[in-house]
Amino acid sequence: MDCLFDRIVKHEIKSEVVYQDDLVTAFRDINPQAPVHILIVPNEHIPSVLDLKPEHAEILSRLMQVAAELAEREGIARGGFRLIFNTGPNAGQTVDHLHMHLLGGRAMGWPPG
Ligand code: AMP
Repeated sequence: MDCLFDRIVKHEIKSEVVYQDDLVTAFRDINPQAPVHILIVPNEHIPSVLDLKPEHAEILSRLMQVAAELAEREGIARGGFRLIFNTGPNAGQTVDHLHMHLLGGRAMGWPPG
């Protein structure tokens, strides 16, 4: 399988990794949409939210914990930030490997575009 994010997780493709442990990897988005734009992904290949199973509970929990930790570290925790899982074509999912966007550092509109 030739998945871009699998290759980033395995360090086969260069990216700015800001966190990695046994379950998840976080790296800066190559095309940032906010002053802080980090993608947090499971190390395991899970295509999207639609493929999540009960046994993925620990991975999901870790994604959230790491998001909070990185928000603190990046200085956006108090100002506020957004966590987004784009899922499917209408939401603009372009990479079929589950990823959570951590966006912050500017005011954001609602509803999203
Ligand atoms: P989505 O549109 O929700 O599927 O998000 C995919 C994200 O991956 C986009 O925000 C892209 O800018 C980002 N992206 C694509 N290729 C890379 C890469 N090589 N390194 C870091 N981020 C990437």
